[in-house]
Formats: sequence, structure tokens, C-alpha cells
Amino acid sequence: MAENNKKDSFNFPPVGGKNNRNPKFSSYWSFIVIAAFIIGFQFFSMPSNPERISWQKFKTDLLAKGEVKDIFIVKNGGKAEIVLKPEKIEGHSELVAKGFNQKSTGPQYYVPFGTLEQFEKNLQEAQKEYPEAGDVVIDYKDDFNWGEIIMYFLPIALFVGIWIFFMRRMSKGAGGGGGGGGIFNVGKSKAKLFDKESNIKITFKDVAGLAEAKQEVEEIVSFLKSPDKYTKLGGKIPKGALLVGPPGTGKTLMAKAMAGEANVPFFSMSGSDFVEMFVGVGASRVRDLFKQAKEKAPCIIFIDEIDAIGRARGRNPNMGANDERENTLNQLLTEMDGFETNSGVIILAATNRADILDSALLRAGRFDRQIYVDLPELKDREEIFKVHLKPLKLAEDIDYSFLAKQTPGFSGADIANVANEAALIAARRNKQAVDKQDFLDSIDRIVGGLENRSKVIKPSEKKTIAYHEAGHATVSWLVQHAHPLLKVTIVPRGKALGAAWYLPQERQITTKEQLLDQMCSVLGGRAAEEIVFGQISTGAQNDLERATKQAYAMVAIYGMSEKIGMLSYYDSTGQSDYSFTKPYSEKTAELIDAEVKAMVSAAYERTKQILSEHREQHRQVAELLIEREVIFSDDLENILGKRPWKDEEEEIQPQEL
Ligand code: ATP
Repeated sequence: MAENNKKDSFNFPPVGGKNNRNPKFSSYWSFIVIAAFIIGFQFFSMPSNPERISWQKFKTDLLAKGEVKDIFIVKNGGKAEIVLKPEKIEGHSELVAKGFNQKSTGPQYYVPFGTLEQFEKNLQEAQKEYPEAGDVVIDYKDDFNWGEIIMYFLPIALFVGIWIFFMRRMSKGAGGGGGGGGIFNVGKSKAKLFDKESNIKITFKDVAGLAEAKQEVEEIVSFLKSPDKYTKLGGKIPKGALLVGPPGTGKTLMAKAMAGEANVPFFSMSGSDFVEMFVGVGASRVRDLFKQAKEKAPCIIFIDEIDAIGRARGRNPNMGANDERENTLNQLLTEMDGFETNSGVIILAATNRADILDSALLRAGRFDRQIYVDLPELKDREEIFKVHLKPLKLAEDIDYSFLAKQTPGFSGADIANVANEAALIAARRNKQAVDKQDFLDSIDRIVGGLENRSKVIKPSEKKTIAYHEAGHATVSWLVQHAHPLLKVTIVPRGKALGAAWYLPQERQITTKEQLLDQMCSVLGGRAAEEIVFGQISTGAQNDLERATKQAYAMVAIYGMSEKIGMLSYYDSTGQSDYSFTKPYSEKTAELIDAEVKAMVSAAYERTKQILSEHREQHRQVAELLIEREVIFSDDLENILGKRPWKDEEEEIQPQEL
């Protein structure tokens, strides 16, 4: 959408603002905190291990000398822990070596014992025996070590944590859109629901042109609003409509407008939303989508780019990965026209390629209607320009029909892009309003890429390019059916070093003569190089590619070669895309090649002849081009004279019988 494009381009982040400055909380932080906690815990709670000491030594070295302060008998541990009087610690070199000092709380030693009773008895006797032992506090405790418990459970907790983390991430990727996320939602449909509350501002007014398609879609909306009008005569609500057309022609826009206009719930999702790495998820999502839709009927389901799941089944059987997609498609087929009725649910889908869709999907009862949304014609383009130029500040000299004429073959999306690009160009030039020149530059930029004046081109190369482009221009001026020339330039643009710009005529059918004349003007560059310089260059690669493709199409698809006859080897169903064999024999293949070669050679000879006959004019055009870098059709008219044929008036006279 133009509005969107514009927004994207103009939405610079606020300079120096405080937005976006707050650090976001991320789940990674929690992991860092846990790791720091574990390390810290290990570090601080690291007890200095008490020293083992035998009963005898304990009795004579510690107890007898009155060095013992407390004794903790660990009942379930089979040991007694000994805490020395702080001032006595430094007298024990082995304790000092271990890091004990006056401040450490202990225990510093432990005495293992066999049975508790025996130990208690021994202790009593020893106390009696050595009155120097003084008042020793004897206490009992259980062996309960937090550190050990944590170390025991930590790996398990860590594993569980990591598992949950991955599951959450996976389900965010998989089922997040459906609301809530969670691994258990992976089979839920990811359709977005638009209803009365959701504020969709796009209406049918925003969709310019496309009158027929709009009418069909509007009818579906009115059907949902007042079904009685249609059903009282016995008619049935159509089950679905398929919007088919080239990219950028407004299919999605139309669906959005429908969502904005219809006062019924509107589920929107893309074909690829059904696809998931888990087997069976696609089918489950289809089921869930229809379940939700039936609950909200009457409603509309919109599936954009349906070819992601709707491709014909059974193609390319070598690839096992197709199974999952086929299951999803089967489920869709069943839901659309299966045993259960889903009255009041209308399915709208969009695709660029209806030809590769499964025929079961296209049959009446599923997508009853196919709505063709073609590239806009002159009048439609004017309308689309009006829509997209509305938000721009325009200069007085803007003529919508002129702009529409300059943009044959442009889709709605291209036109939106032209409008936005023109606004950017005008802004760059510090203009107060967008004028005609900005639009023309914007169109040039979209067709040919960015001008690249800084590209280093040697004078000799410049001369070759100029004669090459002048060759195109001269030949196209002198053959009847070539597209009218707009301008010729040798300013590098994108990848091209120079270009001749034509205004393609909008033809519904093209004759063989027209195609051959076009081929001559395409070959004009290479012919000029050969005639003028006596040597050829790589500069004609793109021209030759185009000429070759066109010749192959003429011979093998349009049946325009006498030797091949009225045969067309084109497969509009797309079935042959996957086959390795050709639909014709080796002999025919050779014949096709020979015919193509003959056709291109004949066109080339004719081109060379035209150029040889007008060598002086060709030279003048090329020299003017070297001087000015850009020349227009007026300049060509001055050199080559007015064309004897009037553009757009090439009528085919019916032959008399
Ligand atoms: P694709 O098949 O690639 O998905 P599409 O046909 O769905 O393409 P959209 O996304 O509907 O194309 O169109 C892209 C943009 O082009 C729209 O957002 C809109 O700005 C512009 N556009 C296309 N057609 C029209 C039209 N008829 N009127 C106004 N704007 C249009």
C-alpha cells in the first residue's frame, strides 16, 4: 500500500528522543541471573572441610588439653564434629594450612564413630578422665546439607528449564499468532480475526479500477448481509471465490476492503501459516479454522497465497515432503465441501497461479467463482494514480491520464511505488510540491534502476554504447510495428550501461509482423556495432536473450513457424514443470532450433540492411547521444523525419475472401 510504503520511508526514529531507550527485559537475563547465583553460591558456601581425626588423637590432643569448645554429634552421619576454641586454632598447623583461623566458625575436626551409644559412653569416660577438658557443649544434629541438596537437584532443574525455554520458543514460532502460544496450541489455526470491533479503515473506495472484480466481491458481501434476497428464489450462497492475478494487482487489498466493509467476522491467514515442521499440524489447523468459523457464521475466511497448500496433488512424487502438504489440502477439501455443511462460511482465497492449483479445489462447490484481477488498463491506472496521489502535495502540472499513459504494464503496487518514490525525489530536491518531472524520474527509476553517473566509462566504450543505443532507436523508428520510442540514454542505470525507452502499446493480441518488427529493434544494437565498428561486443547479451526467447515462443508456443506448423507445446496446466521429457521428439527439437535460428538470422539481416541504408542518420543520432547523453523522440524526428505510420492506429485489415 502506498500509505504503508510512505510510512516506512518517512518513519525515521526520533533523534535524541527517549523512546526505545529503555532496555527490554529478555528471558536471557534470567539465565544470566541463575548462572551468577550458582557460581556465587558455590563460592561463598564453600565450607573448609573439617579434618578427620581418630578417637585416640581427639582424646589426647584436643580434649585432654582443653581445646574443644563444642561437639556436634551427627546422628545419621556416623561422626562427631569438633569445634575448637578460637584461640587454639592457630596451634594446629594442618588447620592453618587449610585456611582456618580464629574467625572461622568450624567445625575444624570430625571424629568417625561406629555406634552412637559406644561413642557417647567413650565420651563420658574421657570427660571424667580429663577434667581439663572443661565444659564442652555436646549437641546433636542431623546431617542436612543444603549445598548438596541444591547440587543434586540443580542439573534436573536446569534440564527442565532448558526444555521449557525451547518449547516456548518453538510454540511461539509455530502457534503464537493464534493467541496465547504454548506448545499445545501448535495445532490451532493462526488466522487473525477481524470483526466489528477491529478498526479496519480500508473500504472498496480504496480499491481503484477492477470494476468487475469489485462487483463480484461486493456481491458476496451483500449476500452475507442480506441472504434472503438471494435465497428466496432458491439460490444458494456461493461457497468460495478465488482471486487470481499477477503480483501486486490488489488481491489482498480487495480482501482487506472486504473485511472493512462486511459486517461479519473475517478470518485472515496465509497459505504458509498452515505449514509447520510437525506432521499433521496443517490439517489440524484447517480443522480448527473451520471450527472457529462455523461458530461465528456467517463469516468470511480469507486465505492469501493459497498455492502454498493448494498445489495439485501427486506431482513430483519423488519428494516425500509433499505428504504433509497433501494432507493439509485434503483436509481443506473436506472442510470446504465435505459431509458436514458449513453454511454461512464463505472462503475467499488469492493466488498468482491458479494454473498449478489442484483441480478438486477449483471445482464448483468449493471455489465456485474465479475472479480475475488483471494488470490495470489505462483507465484503471488513472484511477489508481488518483487513489495514491491523494495524500501527496501535488504541483499544478499533474495530469493523471498522462501518468497513466507513461506506465503501461505497471501493477497497482508499482503505481503506489511510483507515487511514493516521486514524493521522495521531490523532497530530496527541496521542492514544496511533487511535480511532473519528479513522477517521470520516479518511473524511470522504477523501470531502469538508479542512475549511476559516477560509473567510470572509457570514451571508446561510451562511443560503442552510444552507437549501440542509437542502433536500437534508429531501427525502431524505421520499422512500422515497434513500440513508440520515448527517449534514448547512455547514462548508466542499474546494471544497464544505456537504454532506449519505449512506450509499450497495450495490445490484447500481437501479430507475427509486430513480433518480428520488435525483434528487429531489439537486434538493432548488435547490428549497429557490427556495421560501424566491424566488431561485436558483450553489450548485446540481454538483447540476444530477449530475441531468442521471443523466437522460441513464436515457434514452439504460438505456432508461427511454417515448418513446425500449428502446434503449441506450451502446457498451461503447469504439469510439465516437473517432467524431464519434452513433449516433442528429438527430430522436432532440432527443427525448432533450426527455425528459431533462421528466424533470428533473418531479422538480424533485415536490421543490418535498414541500418546500412540509413547509416548517416544513425551516425548523427549516435553523435548527438554522445554529446547530450539523453535524447528524446523529437530529436529523432529531426534527424530521421516523421514516422509515416500513426501509433495506435495500426489496424489489421481483414483479407478479402
Ligand atoms: P500478491 O499476489 O503479490 O500478494 P496482491 O495482488 O495481493 O499481490 P496487494 O497486496 O493487494 O497485491 O497490493 C499491493 C499494493 O498495491 C496495495 O497495498 C496497494 O497500495 C496497491 N494497489 C494494488 N492494486 C490497487 C488498486 N486497484 N487500487 C489501489 N491500490 C492498489
